[in-house]
Amino acid sequence: MSDYPIKRTDAEWREQLDPTQYQVARQHGTERAFSGKYWDHFEGGQYNCIGCGTPLFEADTKFDAHCGWPSYWAPINAEVIERITDTTHGMVRVEVRCNKCGSHLGHVFPDGPDPTGERFCINSAAIDFSPLP
Ligand SMILES: [Zn+2]
Repeated sequence: MSDYPIKRTDAEWREQLDPTQYQVARQHGTERAFSGKYWDHFEGGQYNCIGCGTPLFEADTKFDAHCGWPSYWAPINAEVIERITDTTHGMVRVEVRCNKCGSHLGHVFPDGPDPTGERFCINSAAIDFSPLP
């Protein structure tokens, strides 16, 4: 388990986040496909961690993966994301978390477009969009 620079108690997380955000970000939940607010959202700007506000993804790297979740081919930089091998649900997947606060974001798959070939499949509830200034 990593030691994240931003630490909050469970009660503090419940206070800060709405129930869906808490379920996804702190309980490793997954929102239903096509239910979140960002799967079909394409505007200039960036997407920040719901837990701590760290900028995680830029709109320039977002693409339509037709999967019902916001998808990106790269994070803003490698340091903002933590990758953890996830063997739950009978699969081997790579979970991605915020490297600052440990919030669960989603998973990364090796079937994305160029230039990285990666697909970061992220829950809308784990991120917050801020438009270009
Ligand atoms: Zn965070």
